[in-house]
Amino acid sequence: MTGPATATRVLVLNSGSSSVKYRLLDMADGTRLAAGLVERIGEETSRVSHTPPAGEAGRRERGGPVPDHAAALKAVAEELARDGLGLDSPGLAAIGHRVVHGGMRFSAPTVITDEVLGEIERLVPLAPLHNPANLTGIRTARALRPDLPQVAVFDTAFHTTMPEYAARYAIDVETADAHRIRRYGFHGTSHAFVSRRAAALLGRAPEQVNVIVLHLGNGASASAVRGGRCVDTSMGLTPLEGLVMGTRSGDVDPAVTFHLRRVAGMSVDDVDVLLNKRSGLVGLCGDNDMREIRRRIEDGDEPARLAFEIYVHRLKKYIGAYYAVLGRVDAVVFTAGVGENSAQVREAAVAGLEGLGIAVDADLNAVRSDVPRLISPGRARVAVAVVPTDEELEIAGQTFALVAAGRGGVDRGA
Ligand code: AMP
Repeated sequence: MTGPATATRVLVLNSGSSSVKYRLLDMADGTRLAAGLVERIGEETSRVSHTPPAGEAGRRERGGPVPDHAAALKAVAEELARDGLGLDSPGLAAIGHRVVHGGMRFSAPTVITDEVLGEIERLVPLAPLHNPANLTGIRTARALRPDLPQVAVFDTAFHTTMPEYAARYAIDVETADAHRIRRYGFHGTSHAFVSRRAAALLGRAPEQVNVIVLHLGNGASASAVRGGRCVDTSMGLTPLEGLVMGTRSGDVDPAVTFHLRRVAGMSVDDVDVLLNKRSGLVGLCGDNDMREIRRRIEDGDEPARLAFEIYVHRLKKYIGAYYAVLGRVDAVVFTAGVGENSAQVREAAVAGLEGLGIAVDADLNAVRSDVPRLISPGRARVAVAVVPTDEELEIAGQTFALVAAGRGGVDRGA
């Protein structure tokens, strides 16, 4: 190589307890170079599926045990190397890691140092299922490429702008502070990405618009975003609060917990499992896939219909609440699996809100598409939009921006 090569690639790693999702992007133009998933880590039936630059047609799958995260990342590195995109290639600028809980400390993407790792570790009690897996992914990636900048992008960061009166629960302050109990919010990279894209769809700067974002996937959350900054969100101390989700209850009277303890003899862990895994749509009707629920409703299934109504009623309450919080709303935006795909949920969620200036046009709402689009009638006071989310692209963008800023351009030399 004769001159310095400019590194523009970012590898995004999303490490779960038994899986690693990854995507390699070229941030010169945002293109996806490769992507894949290692699943069932630690089981006999582990699987690696990898999509190379050629796309779906070139997709490779392999089985065989992947005993731990170190083996999983080794498999990712091997797959990328087969495409000439190995972890040692000079084009790689950084690795961006999704980290679920950043507490109050991390309000922005952060270059990972030993000290930062220690802080993420200290937050484990607040996210016992997620942060340990994220940490394992980070440690493994650092061992593979100790010289490469690695960045943590936190699910909670976008919500750290919430005012204190929205973030605090009305419980004894000393107890709350001693145990770091407050509303943190999650899905932040999605809310950040989608609210910015919605502003672009309206042809305005993020600072100029007020947006309600409805992220409706298997997990679901709403946020109120004023001028590009989050002022309220529906998830709280954990991702359990707020909307009805696939398997999570969302809002319930907290007394449900001690009532079940007293009258049903359930342990705290039993109630944890009940509210996180056996509630929401699955608890109400046995299915958590909105497509299946709609099929059952078409067949006259009563529990499915009631589950849908409870789901939509909660959603509508949050739209109303965040309208009041924002005072003026420019757009209501639907995103994630249900929000992007279910015209019925979108229609039902805004039904009856014409008085607030919120409505959907039936024909526009019925169009299936994977690009950001408006679905409100032409002259509506509030735009209603569908904006596909892309958390990996957002993580890559934030990672690259940080690394580029820190180095005055990512110039890694020859
Ligand atoms: P996510 O967590 O964003 O991947 O969303 C997953 C959920 O999206 C699934 O559980 C389904 O309920 C929902 N979903 C995916 N595709 C559709 C569709 N075509 N129509 C309705 N819901 C869908």
